[in-house]
Amino acid sequence: MNYQNVIEFAKQLDKEDSLSYLRNEYHIPKDENGNDWLYFTGNSLGLQPKQTQIYIQQELNDWAKYGVEGHFEAKNPWMPYHEFLTDKMANIVGAKPLEVVVMNTLTTNLHLLMVSFYQPTQKKFKIVIESDAFPSDRYAVQSQLKFHGIDPEEGLVEWKPREGEELLNITDLEEILDSQGDEIALLLIGGVNYYTGQYLDLKKIAELGHDKNCIVGIDLAHGAGNIQPNLHDSGVDFAAWCTYKYLNSGPGSLSALFVHEKHAHNRDLPRFAGWWNHNKETRFNMRQPFDVMPGAEGWQLSNPPILSMAAIRSSLDIFDKVGMNALREKSERLTGYFEYLINEIDTDRIKIITPSNPKERGCQLSIQVKKADKTLHQKLTENNIITDWREPDVIRCAPVPMYNSFEDVYRMVSILKTLL
Ligand SMILES: *Cc1c(COP(=O)(O)O)cnc(C)c1O
Repeated sequence: MNYQNVIEFAKQLDKEDSLSYLRNEYHIPKDENGNDWLYFTGNSLGLQPKQTQIYIQQELNDWAKYGVEGHFEAKNPWMPYHEFLTDKMANIVGAKPLEVVVMNTLTTNLHLLMVSFYQPTQKKFKIVIESDAFPSDRYAVQSQLKFHGIDPEEGLVEWKPREGEELLNITDLEEILDSQGDEIALLLIGGVNYYTGQYLDLKKIAELGHDKNCIVGIDLAHGAGNIQPNLHDSGVDFAAWCTYKYLNSGPGSLSALFVHEKHAHNRDLPRFAGWWNHNKETRFNMRQPFDVMPGAEGWQLSNPPILSMAAIRSSLDIFDKVGMNALREKSERLTGYFEYLINEIDTDRIKIITPSNPKERGCQLSIQVKKADKTLHQKLTENNIITDWREPDVIRCAPVPMYNSFEDVYRMVSILKTLL
């Protein structure tokens, strides 16, 4: 696309954008004069759909009206409430409904999945992560190693960018697997890296891992609602993601997990149990021996928090209406325009770390500003531009196709240019 570096052009793109109406369905934070913030941190906490209040209020009303009977009598009965989320969530990540469930929070789910899918032996015990994995994932993996009596120094293998580079190269993973594959039990990789915004080839990673009989797990916290990971076809064994980033479901909201169909009926997998992964038909017959449910539901433990799920339901209804194809199409254009404008800034202080190939990134651009420090981030914030600063010198910005406009992107870059 031929972009132009003038505000009229940005406004024209907004006018032609068939999804621009969506912005009005979200609460956009404003400054004291009522001007919209330029919000670029939907990768950290997505904005609130206006209808979410109504969804939560419905459950509050039914709780007030029915008490415990709301499990069956509520307009949206709480008993099967999580099932209302499954199909829509599965569509977002390209999975079958059997493969997906919403439950717990992300790090908790990573642990539960490792209980089942990380079964180290004397010989095959190592776990591969990206060297720049999100801290929680790293801590989770280190603690799993220790839990099994393995020294993380020995058990943790890092897939690193090459000297002087920021991005991961799949041939380096191939090399790790060639040399240590017989000792590697699990790959746990961020599908879209939180720091660089790099979107990795999940299918290729699954093939490489499976060639060496490794289990392949993906953290999709920065992928779900952002890119289209086609989880089922990718063949990865499991995945998990949170719903408060691109899925706009509120601070600390629940996570979802994916377990590939090939494991759906394996009753021999080790797993933790509770009443909620026991067969729904006999769950309230309280004295039955444990009878695990097939598919992803077989990893639940507890009856879920309905108020949090109501917020997820509200958000997923919007995703369902719009569809990931349309969102992704806008996203490529929006981030493409953002990239173009950044590259138009006449300075050698700026470098975009994120891949320039739209197929290898989601909406986020990670912008390195040489000789900058956190005061740059503060100045952006003073100008109502909400971004995320990562030491030593990277600004992470995510123009989200659901509610960000081309004008947002234009205004942001012109202020950044002035500040530089
Ligand atoms: C956001 C994020 C988390 C956060 O985990 P919680 O358990 O939801 O606090 C973990 N891992 C990755 C990769 C993330 O991006």
